[in-house]
Amino acid sequence: MKTNEALFQAALGLIPGGVNSPVRSFQKVGGTPFFVRNAIGPFLVDVEGNRYIDFVLAYGPMILGHTHPSVERAIRAQAARGFSFGCPHPDEVAFAAALRGAIPSLERVRLVSSGTEAVMTAIRLARAYTGREFVLKLDGGYHGHSDALLVKAGSGGATLGVPDSCGVPGALASLTLTTPYNDTQALSEAFKVYGERTACMIVEPVACNMGVVPPEPGFLETARELCTQYGALLAFDEVITGFRYHYGGYQDLVQINPDLTTLGKIIGGGLPLACVGGRADIMETLAPTGNVYQAGTLSGNPLAVSAGIATLQALKERHETLYPSLEAKAQTIARAYETAAKEKGIPLALNRVGSTFTPFFAEHPPKNFSEVLDTDAKRYARFFRLAVEHGLFPPPSPFEAHFLSVAHTDALLEEAQERLSAAFQAL
Ligand SMILES: *Cc1c(COP(=O)(O)O)cnc(C)c1O
Repeated sequence: MKTNEALFQAALGLIPGGVNSPVRSFQKVGGTPFFVRNAIGPFLVDVEGNRYIDFVLAYGPMILGHTHPSVERAIRAQAARGFSFGCPHPDEVAFAAALRGAIPSLERVRLVSSGTEAVMTAIRLARAYTGREFVLKLDGGYHGHSDALLVKAGSGGATLGVPDSCGVPGALASLTLTTPYNDTQALSEAFKVYGERTACMIVEPVACNMGVVPPEPGFLETARELCTQYGALLAFDEVITGFRYHYGGYQDLVQINPDLTTLGKIIGGGLPLACVGGRADIMETLAPTGNVYQAGTLSGNPLAVSAGIATLQALKERHETLYPSLEAKAQTIARAYETAAKEKGIPLALNRVGSTFTPFFAEHPPKNFSEVLDTDAKRYARFFRLAVEHGLFPPPSPFEAHFLSVAHTDALLEEAQERLSAAFQAL
């Protein structure tokens, strides 16, 4: 049997950093990543036979838990009919109809294979539709790894972007503006200066990629008003929030209509599937109707779409009880964090929206990225390693969200609370 350590050493000689996506390397928290042999319900099992209660859930998609029977059945049934067609197929139509049924602003949708691709397309569409070049994003918002969006802010006010990654041309990054999350004044000022040259503003309606940071009342409403006033498009990046808090988008909960929306993660049920959707007049500028080019060999892949349809179906059937129950589960674990920290005398501030939350080692809950960066990341790293030793898998970074799934039963959550308390005692 190969151990985690042996596999990681082998991987390091074959794959940069041993992983196919950076956060999986545990670089932010230290230690050797475990290699998963299989995943079932709320559990990951590694190659050494260790079982972890999973609070990462593949970074959001697995809201039904791992290997959900109806999704597995759908994938198997589709596999018997073919893996990829390169032609339209009926399930694409059914899936698009399900998405529009759940989120009315999606007058048209285009399926792609990743959230990155979806957002990249949304930006291109916005630039083409408005004939403008600037894009406005919020500091700490993550929208995939395309050039235009790998940009961080300097301090205060509107900042012309500097690249967050080597290899992103400065000229391109300088077209991306950033302002702090939840700062309506900085946003207004940015629009005053750049509004008429701004193609779109892109925002996670609940920030989930700097840890969970909820929007303050009025922030998203102000974003909508400013975009309308200056003729910029508003794009909601709902790759995490879509179908996470209710059967639909966060936009429906706050009653704000974005012009464009991106979805991913949950809608693919764990397979590579995402989409960009929105107003028909904007979406129809995509090829072949319009002159904005976008394409994909595996777009609308039948296996992925079958998983997406089965996932949405399972969520829809039980949505009236499923979402309140998910929220209650998250509340239970969030309280367990707070209690365990209090017992140990460690300051902990927890941000939670529905079944997503982040425990920050800080006195006060952060409301933007710079406050997130002020929290105690070193203590989180120590906590993470102890949690893993106690059979829990919280995110391997202080800046990723915890997620709950329907597979986390109340009995399991009781066990999780005990493990959590033991991990904190050792901290
Ligand atoms: C995960 C994520 C993306 C990128 O999606 P990938 O499928 O990883 O490319 C984009 N936006 C948000 C809000 C995300 O959480």
